[in-house]
Amino acid sequence: MARRRQDSEPRQAALLTWYRRHHRDLPWRRTTDPYAILVSEVMLQQTQVDRVIPYFQRWLAAFPDVASLAQADLDMVHRLWQGLGYPSRAQRLREACCLIAVQGWPQDVAALQALPGIGPYTAAAVACFAFKAAVPLVDTNVARVYARCDGCVGPAPVFWQHAGAYVAAEDPVAWNNALMELGATVCTARRPACERCPWAVYCVSAGDVRRVAETATPLRSASSSGPAPLRQRGGSHHLIALARDGQGDYLVGRGSLFLPHGQRSGPTAADRQSLAALLSASGGQRLLSARPFCAWYDAETDCTWHAYRCRLYADVPPAAPWRFVDVAALVKRRWPPAWTVLRQRCLSYRPHRLTQGG
Ligand code: SF4
Repeated sequence: MARRRQDSEPRQAALLTWYRRHHRDLPWRRTTDPYAILVSEVMLQQTQVDRVIPYFQRWLAAFPDVASLAQADLDMVHRLWQGLGYPSRAQRLREACCLIAVQGWPQDVAALQALPGIGPYTAAAVACFAFKAAVPLVDTNVARVYARCDGCVGPAPVFWQHAGAYVAAEDPVAWNNALMELGATVCTARRPACERCPWAVYCVSAGDVRRVAETATPLRSASSSGPAPLRQRGGSHHLIALARDGQGDYLVGRGSLFLPHGQRSGPTAADRQSLAALLSASGGQRLLSARPFCAWYDAETDCTWHAYRCRLYADVPPAAPWRFVDVAALVKRRWPPAWTVLRQRCLSYRPHRLTQGG
């Protein structure tokens, strides 16, 4: 389901290199046993990592596998869970293991999600960490990283689709762990350490005090909503390309390409390929590269917007419905309410960042 973007490779490499050097040694990262991973994921729901570790170790000592938990006395199960909170989690975990003991392990996200107590996030986590499925994972930490780095705004599906475009198919386990680790240890809610962040050169919020404060908790329940594809929302989707103009300048606002507001015949998927196809169909513009600039959902119009920062092959004048507009002049005018996010991103964007690859 995830579509890999060619222009994300240097960013992927930077994050994976950082993760290999700096990640915490957490007990559930040392195993690919789906049972141990399921136990850790259920315990980590609503509970901090430090608090979970001793419970996780005691639990595996008492119930080392699916069969032992399925046969366990319920009082004993609750006793071992005591102090971790939300005891219904323990009961549902045991019920899931009773089913797995009979049916075996489901290995894809949809089948895992059919088990008791397993929501979309937990199912995706087990599919990835135990069965190496190349699926995205978005918890509150990951949502914060994408909100700050790429300007993601919106309900959970916006983040899940965005994350899906970047999953490193060759090592989804390391990739998803790395994103979570970045959000948990560097891009923290209150004090992001931009000076030691592997994504600082790619981040549109690096060092921006106001912006990092605004994006501390972009999505409180990102993980509970699950990876519903945006196109199933029923609303329309719009693509916006911000590109340099024929003068070759990279200054903010020197000529950008906009899909006119209100166009309803949008792409089937709001991704780079759709953007390239739309540009090509409109006057033969060829897309060299595209990086996400920001994405947001406008509940008023039920539209999802996806803005990309682009490089084009040639200065071919765009044909209708595309047109060059001057962002510098545009930001002074009244913008449609649905474009508030884009306007803020344009205003806070610093020219020197545009020289860093496009
Ligand atoms: S540069 Fe700063 S704000 Fe951006 S992702 Fe890294 S820690 Fe977060």
